[in-house]
Amino acid sequence: MASEKKQPDSSSAPAQVPLPAPLSDLKIQYTKIFINNEWHDSVSGKKFPVLNPATGEKICEVEEGDKEDVDKAVKAARKAFELGSRWRTMDASERGKLLNKLADLIERDRLLLASMESINAGKLFSNAYLMDLGGCINPLRYCAGWADKIHGRTIPMDGNYFTYTRHEPVGVCGQIIPWNFPLVMFIWKIAPALCCGNTVVVKPAEQTPLTAIHMGSLIIEAGFPPGVVNIVPGYGPTAGAAISNHMDIDKVAFTGSTEVGKKIKEAAGRSNLKRVTLELGGKSPNIIFADADMNCAVEYAHIGLFYHQGQCCIAGSRIFVEEPIYDEFVRRSVERAKKIVVGNPLTAGVHQGPQIDKEQYDKILAMIESGKKEGAKLHCGGGPWGDKGFFIQPTVFSDVTDDMLIAKEEIFGPVQMIMKFKTIDEVIKRANNTPYGLAAAVFTKDIDKALTFTSALQAGTVWVNCYSAMSAQCPFGGFKMSGNGRELGEYGLHEYTEVKTVTIKIPQKNS
Ligand code: ADP
Repeated sequence: MASEKKQPDSSSAPAQVPLPAPLSDLKIQYTKIFINNEWHDSVSGKKFPVLNPATGEKICEVEEGDKEDVDKAVKAARKAFELGSRWRTMDASERGKLLNKLADLIERDRLLLASMESINAGKLFSNAYLMDLGGCINPLRYCAGWADKIHGRTIPMDGNYFTYTRHEPVGVCGQIIPWNFPLVMFIWKIAPALCCGNTVVVKPAEQTPLTAIHMGSLIIEAGFPPGVVNIVPGYGPTAGAAISNHMDIDKVAFTGSTEVGKKIKEAAGRSNLKRVTLELGGKSPNIIFADADMNCAVEYAHIGLFYHQGQCCIAGSRIFVEEPIYDEFVRRSVERAKKIVVGNPLTAGVHQGPQIDKEQYDKILAMIESGKKEGAKLHCGGGPWGDKGFFIQPTVFSDVTDDMLIAKEEIFGPVQMIMKFKTIDEVIKRANNTPYGLAAAVFTKDIDKALTFTSALQAGTVWVNCYSAMSAQCPFGGFKMSGNGRELGEYGLHEYTEVKTVTIKIPQKNS
């Protein structure tokens, strides 16, 4: 989720924000379930450990929410959503002020939140501080601005009627978020929902609950009424499934794997047909033509894949390079990957931290082995790194063919693969030959070629001569099995309202 820069460099900071050192004495103050603006123990009495992926060591234990805790949270959210409640009767502009206040508090706690995110998610501190925290504050302020600008229309209905539409909140929204951008995903979920007047029950990923739970304290401080935001840490098949199956949740928003996305939709269908938005996996094509600016393309392809250890749904994980420049592109990409410094994500100068957990680590290593076995050419990396934590060497494969597992399945790790193409028709077919459709990019100086690709590629976002350029104003989401619906931008707000048509009989209308 890097912002666009002319000379892409994942380690450099936007000039206006100075980078402090991470907190060295971080204390985890909040570890409980957050319901009704209060801290709760789990009903079962269970807790679960939260690990630092750089060391594999336990940071703390967190209360483990399950179905009963989700039920409590939904009751609180439903009460806060009742007609006549403080939340439902609040001016829309006041909702905007609360969101802005929350953004102010996140700015105040930026160092603490970035340090916590870095330690819990294995995220480079510089990225956490600049990109992730920026990626929280901006969408919050964007949604704050929208709060009193969400309105319906008057409609010239046939007959003697006066008709208008109201854009009403959907109700209680369950929101299930992943571990790769824990705080960003928390904000992407709650900001549009609250902006439109909904109440929420959020379940952070079991690997990374700490920043989300901390947000509970800021929700209180900002002045949100009790029950508007509820946070239930816990595991997917228990707390997560309780949300997607719940009969009193009106909408579920999920970001995570396609496999779990299917389960969420099934559960919604089996229970109360709650509205579903999904942001799922990807296997995004990045197409580099021989006429592209080679330095720029190599750098964007590098960052588009290696950013956050390759753990991005938008990772440009199928790089197609036109034949005349293929060998040179591979050579430069390998040279670039070999410059990556792997190590503790809190340390300045480190470019790559650990994978999130043992499960992902094992999965990525197995994918690397399959690439070797299937005959891809390994140029660098190809194995684990270090003797503790979940680190993997930056890996580059060339001579990858479309039928290899590494070219078909999402790897979610620091594994770059570079494929060759000859013609435009061929590469369009190959790029679209995937069940996914989250993002795509094309690098060329030829505007006609670029425009051909922006319409031909089946993806929710297509970048031209850049990668990962995202911001609060732009809708984000997938075609095909990369998801349903959009987040961010005005389009993202539509997912959090119901349109009501109000028709009033009148004696006579006048045009
Ligand atoms: P990953 O495979 O990358 O860990 P997941 O899709 O498993 O991603 O997890 C994303 C989120 O979905 C997490 O909050 C996780 O707890 C939750 N989750 C996992 N399984 C389920 C499930 N069966 N029902 C609801 N949520 C789930």
